[in-house]
Amino acid sequence: SRQQLLAYADKAAVTVDGFKVEIAANIGTPEEALGLLGTGAEAVGLYRTEFLFMSRSSMPDEETQFQAYKSAAEAMQGRPVIIRTLDIGGDKELPYLELPHELNPFLGYRAIRLCLDRPDLLVTQLRAILRASAYGNLKVMFPMISGLEEWRKAKGIFEEVREQLRLESIPMAEKIEVGIMIEIPSAALQADRFAKEVDFFSIGTNDLVQYTLAVDRMNEKVSYLYDYFHPAVIRLIKQVIDASDRHGKWTGMCGSMAGDPLAAPLLMGLGLHEWSMSPSAIQKIKRQIINLNRRDCQELAERILDMDTPAEVRKALEAYQK
Ligand code: PEP
Ligand code: MG
Repeated sequence: SRQQLLAYADKAAVTVDGFKVEIAANIGTPEEALGLLGTGAEAVGLYRTEFLFMSRSSMPDEETQFQAYKSAAEAMQGRPVIIRTLDIGGDKELPYLELPHELNPFLGYRAIRLCLDRPDLLVTQLRAILRASAYGNLKVMFPMISGLEEWRKAKGIFEEVREQLRLESIPMAEKIEVGIMIEIPSAALQADRFAKEVDFFSIGTNDLVQYTLAVDRMNEKVSYLYDYFHPAVIRLIKQVIDASDRHGKWTGMCGSMAGDPLAAPLLMGLGLHEWSMSPSAIQKIKRQIINLNRRDCQELAERILDMDTPAEVRKALEAYQK
């Protein structure tokens, strides 16, 4: 019942054998952060900033962005808030940017590609985030990273912006973690390289599945192929978490797999550190994690990593759930 679920809101997400994970929420507006109190969210694992850009007829200026990020930071009262830089393109359009029509928008001019080509956009956004960092615990995350050069360029711009704000004597947090989304297979396959340089990973299964399996995430004709339980996707997730573990970094997941109760024992077995999901999924997942045994989950994950098809994986997880 709702009441029983609410009882889990205040509990830490620790397995029976003592493995603690962080349960976080995905949000699209700072107002949603205010609504998180009482849901059991320990952090915001993904703040999708594109809605701030899409809900207007012109580019939000630095001050407008600063106010939004500051209110998200303040609403969470010192708990982490991961702000994802602009992820426009693909299915998300911004008419005032007058982007060219593309044959394959999901493979085209989107997210970090656009931001590196138009650094003015990124600089304004990073200035706003860094200024807001004085009011809470903000982290920065770059979307759609496909290779190390993109990451290094974006991180370089971040450092330049920080230096500029220092020169302007603008207050900022002392330390800000900077990470990347893992949502393109090339980045997952190079996770060991990225892990030396980034502070954290967040796996975006919504896009990772689309790009790994070559299945348009919006196309119903092929949706039967779209499945995060595909063994190839699971192998990539394992590689990413293992790489972060080896380098003393952490891996989160902000794609919808993180909020799926069926996936939870598998993700626990793979060692996922931070789980970010729609606020409505939090209490169920927390309750489930509290009843999991990590060692059992590791055995389950081992077995699953040896499977051939999504159907086999699903069957094993359904059996485990009972
Ligand atoms: C993802 O790709 O999994 C993700 C969380 O980002 P979005 O759904 O906003 O593309
Ligand atoms: Mg994505």
